[in-house]
Parts: sequence; structure tokens; C-alpha cells
Amino acid sequence: MVPGNHLDWPFLEPRHRALATELDSWTGRVLSHNHLQDHSVPAVDDACRKLVTQLGEGGWLKYAIGGAAYGASADTIDTRAICLIRETLARYSGLADFVFAMQGLGSGPISLGGSHEQKQRYLPRVASGSAIAAFAISEPDAGSDVAALQCEARKDGDSYLISGEKTWISNGGIADFYLVFARTGEEAGAKGISAFIVDAGTPGLVIAERIEVMAPHPLARLTFNDCRIPAAQRVGAPGQGFKIAMATLDIFRSSVAAAALGFARRALHEALARSTSRKMFGQVLADFQLTQAKLARMATDVDSAALLTYRAAWLKDMGRSVTVEAAMAKMTATEIAQQAIDSAVQIFGALGVVSGQVIESLYREIRPLRIYEGATEVQQLIIARGVIKAYKESERERG
Ligand SMILES: Cc1cc2nc3c(=O)[nH]c(=O)nc-3n(C[C@H](O)[C@H](O)[C@H](O)COP(=O)(O)OP(=O)(O)OC[C@H]3O[C@@H](n4cnc5c(N)ncnc54)[C@H](O)[C@@H]3O)c2cc1C
Repeated sequence: MVPGNHLDWPFLEPRHRALATELDSWTGRVLSHNHLQDHSVPAVDDACRKLVTQLGEGGWLKYAIGGAAYGASADTIDTRAICLIRETLARYSGLADFVFAMQGLGSGPISLGGSHEQKQRYLPRVASGSAIAAFAISEPDAGSDVAALQCEARKDGDSYLISGEKTWISNGGIADFYLVFARTGEEAGAKGISAFIVDAGTPGLVIAERIEVMAPHPLARLTFNDCRIPAAQRVGAPGQGFKIAMATLDIFRSSVAAAALGFARRALHEALARSTSRKMFGQVLADFQLTQAKLARMATDVDSAALLTYRAAWLKDMGRSVTVEAAMAKMTATEIAQQAIDSAVQIFGALGVVSGQVIESLYREIRPLRIYEGATEVQQLIIARGVIKAYKESERERG
């Protein structure tokens, strides 16, 4: 499969091109025959555990964390590398992309705001694939409006007692530790939330329900019943949890766009292969202008998504604020990937809806990306807020 012409774009550096090429060849060798046929919870759990081990052994998870002293590829997380890895993995396996992303997201708060002891204890295991990470912020009544979360952590001597509920938690049930965001009450709203590391198996942490979804991966609802953890497991200062969560999402939001881009690129590749070989009406499907219009739309959409994704990642790596650019990338890439995959299903005809086919699995894999880490509507609000603010500032400066 062709990795894409974007590797020559100026957003990327030689090390990124080498990384993408090496990973493409590794993934083709190691993961291409790894398609999940059994969607039961135990089979999905096993597949994820195996993928964590494989990605750790392959050396790829060291890009998911920050801090060379703790097993990372560099001291700071390289957003472009994360995007290239997710895009490449997504072209071959949605589950492999998921596994990589969750190792990064679940440990991101430690990489960004953890103490030396926390980094030492958790990050090397995340990088080697010997510990599985999870990020637990959503609750039944706090999804898009995540600052409304109610799960609370009460200080009790040298410990915190966590009580409440979290839901839609990826890796719930198989994670070795959970990054949990809970209300500590320094202030109302977002400034009264702190981040905690809760090890799996801590008394009071219960996997209350396993949730099965259209693109199977481990997902669970968790309950915390006076779950006692040492105060040293708090990440960052009290009341800083929301800020740490947003800083983590600022890196990983662009990478959701990259995963969508990988799915769209695979759909385009499959659509080209099928339409140039499928015979009908005395020629092949790709000879018809109606098909060419679809292929043209898909190819243009893929490049638009890539441009926005790697612009956001590059800006982030340049140390710039990317709230608006990452939102643009996430919104555009996930929405147009859905359309591109739908066009591919159409080009495949009946074959496109057969369970287990690549195109059918892409159709299921893409859908949640338009919802998690901020639904498309939330990204629209972020972008609009950003451009309105920029307009007002420029008007003020002009007097
Ligand atoms: C597969 C999957 C994996 C997930 N993994 C994790 C995880 O690991 N950790 C975690 O903490 N959470 C996780 N989530 C939860 C995810 O972040 C939430 O689903 C998401 O934030 C949306 O929250 P909600 O589902 O409660 O939807 P709601 O907040 O109820 O929103 C429903 C819909 O309302 C619309 N909407 C939202 N805001 C507005 C608005 N202002 N104006 C108009 N319309 C609006 C959007 O279309 C949205 O989809 C996961 C979700 C999925 C689907």
C-alpha cells in the first residue's frame, strides 16, 4: 500500500519520513493478517493485549510517551510522529491504532504533569507494552460538557477516597492503571478537578459493565466506591486536573484526525483497486465518469485532511497553541473520512457490506471518531469561538 505523497511535505522532517516508511513496512509484515473475526469481549481483550506487546516489542510505543529518561523516543512528545504512527496503523488495523492511541492518551497526563516517581513507575512499562493505560474522564452526565463531572476525590490524611462513576472508558477491564479525573473542590467547575492514577485492582474500583460497540474494542463503565489511593498518586497540583486533561487532548486531538486520515486513505486505496479491476458494461468501473467523480472527491478529501492534520501537528511541535487548528483537523478529517469510506462501500457494491471485508470494517471503525474526544459540534464551537475572538482582537487593534 502506498503510504501517501504527504511524506514530502514541508511539515515533516527527515526523521518523520524514515519513521513512517519503517513503520509501514513493519505493519505490513506484522499486522496485515491480523484481522479480528471474533468480536466477543474475551477475543477483543486478547487481541488488544497481543497488540500492546507487539507494538512495545516493535519499539513504537516509545513515541506515545514523553521523557527519554523513562523510555521515550524524545523528551517531549513528537506530535507529528504520533500522527504518522496513527495514520499508518489505521491503514492496516483500527484496533492497532486504538491500542497505540490509548497508551499515549492514558499516560499523557503523567508525561506532561507527573512527578519523577510517577514517571519512573509508569512510563517505562507503557513504552515497553508491559502495562496498559486508560483515560477516565467521561461520566453518564458529563460527556461533551465534561467540566460538569461529578466523581469526587475527598482528602483523608495521606490518601484520597474516590467515589463516583465513569463510563465509555476505553481499555476498561484490561488496563493496568486508569488516569481518573475527579472533583476535589478547590473552585467550582473546571478549576476544581484533579487527576489521579488508580491502579487496576485497587479495592473500591469496580468494572461495573463491559460495553460492546460497533468497532469492537475494550470499553467499560467503572464505579468507584470509596476507592482509597495514596495522595502521591495525584498528578499535578490540586485543581489542575482539567488543565492537564486539556493539554493531553491538545496533543491527541490532532492524532484522531490522523487516524481518520489513515482509514480514508485505505478506503481510497481499496476503491482504486476495485474500480480499476471490476468489469461491467464492457469496460471497468473506473472508466465511468461517475466513478471518477467519486475517486476525485475522495483523493481531494484525503489531501485536505492530511494538510489540516499535519499543519496542526507541526504547529504543536513548534510550541504554538493549536486549539483551533486541532479542532479544524479533527472535525474535517473525521467527517470526510466517513464520506470517503461511504463512497468506497458504494464502489464495492454488495461486497462492501459483507462482514469481515476491509471496507465494511472501515465503515464501522470510522463512526466513533466523529463523537469521541469532542464531537464534531464541539469542534465547531471551538473553531467559531477562536475565529470570533481573533476577529474582535484585530478590530480592537485597528482601533
Ligand atoms: C468508542 C468510544 C470510546 C471512548 N473512550 C473514552 C475514554 O477512553 N475515556 C473517556 O473519558 N471517554 C471516552 N469516550 C466518551 C466520549 O468522549 C464521549 O462519548 C463524548 O465526549 C460525547 O459525550 P456523550 O457520549 O455523553 O454525548 P453527549 O454529551 O450527550 O452529546 C451527544 C451529542 O450532542 C451533540 N452536541 C454536543 N455538544 C453540543 C452543542 N454544544 N451543540 C449542539 N450539539 C451538541 C453532539 O453531536 C454529540 O454527539 C468514548 C466514546 C466512544 C464512543
